[in-house]
Amino acid sequence: RILKRQMECRRDIDRLNASFIEIYESLVLPQEEKAKQKQLLAVLEKLVNREWPQAKLYLYGSCANSFGVLKSDIDVCLAIEDANINKSEVLLKLADILQSDNLQNVQALPRARVPIVKLMDPVTGISCDICINNVLAVVNTKLLWDYAQIDVRLRQLAFIVKHWAKSRGVNETYQGTLSSYAYVLMCIHFLQQRRPAILPCLQEMEPTYSVTVDDIKCAYFDRVEKLQGFGSRNREPIAQLVWAFFNYWAYRHDYVNAVVSVRTGSIISKQEKDWTRRVGNDRHLICIEDPFETSHDLGRVVDKHTIKVLREEFERAADILQYDPNPCVTLFEPY
Ligand code: ATP
Ligand code: MG
Repeated sequence: RILKRQMECRRDIDRLNASFIEIYESLVLPQEEKAKQKQLLAVLEKLVNREWPQAKLYLYGSCANSFGVLKSDIDVCLAIEDANINKSEVLLKLADILQSDNLQNVQALPRARVPIVKLMDPVTGISCDICINNVLAVVNTKLLWDYAQIDVRLRQLAFIVKHWAKSRGVNETYQGTLSSYAYVLMCIHFLQQRRPAILPCLQEMEPTYSVTVDDIKCAYFDRVEKLQGFGSRNREPIAQLVWAFFNYWAYRHDYVNAVVSVRTGSIISKQEKDWTRRVGNDRHLICIEDPFETSHDLGRVVDKHTIKVLREEFERAADILQYDPNPCVTLFEPY
């Protein structure tokens, strides 16, 4: 009887795995969408270079970090070397240029936390945010992209977690829940922590890539093609990893003391970061260290109400994966 039960269990896991992989594949951006994004970038670059011949445009965020799901907007960074520019002026000028070139819904938001120009391209139907000189975001985008090349399970896990977070309404920084960027870092950290590890810690290895941005040195091992097969000693299938991820955040993470750190590939203490009490609006109720801007806690947007919402959602997900006969449907039910 035990053998029979084990075989049934096995079949359940295989079935769940197949469902998760199907969901992942349905979320991945098709090639033709990527071509459209490139096309729009080329149009924008031409317009920008008429005004600022030295300026460069970079894609960042989910359209460039390989964690882009269907229907994401694209994030673009306008890099101008001149240190004396006034960002607001450039932003307004940029909005002017774009407006006169048939782009729609052009809107400058010079007072946002990250000042941007928003627009929609009627030719490709793509919406786009352009920021100025946010080079750190371009560098952390590359880090995420590099991690994604090492083991396909990172993309699978992160797509499922992002899809869950969007369905459950816990992917809204302005409402006190976490950004997509924070969720991807949580996934990287989780896979660094598996035994055997599925991902290495690139920032602890001999650096092969190094840039200094806003006085922050960003250095890590980026020859990721050399790390193919790094995680192959760990054979955990995606269904098990999804279950363990939610189980960790529901029941095992030490919210009182622990900081998740992709930079060190380990858990570090709040004490050591001086993140033990509220400072201004930063409450540090769930702590996720930015890999480069290490004084930056990506969980700082979470307050005493939304930490409850988040933890209840983690518990709900963990319980569904444990007990629900049809978890792939229930997990993503709109809230
Ligand atoms: P989505 O598919 O939801 O748009 P995304 O990967 O574009 O996901 P966002 O959270 O919109 O994720 O962030 C876009 C990019 O902006 C990130 O990849 C990161 O480079 C940068 N970023 C976002 N939030 C922060 C932050 N708090 N600190 C530093 N960089 C950030
Ligand atoms: Mg985005």
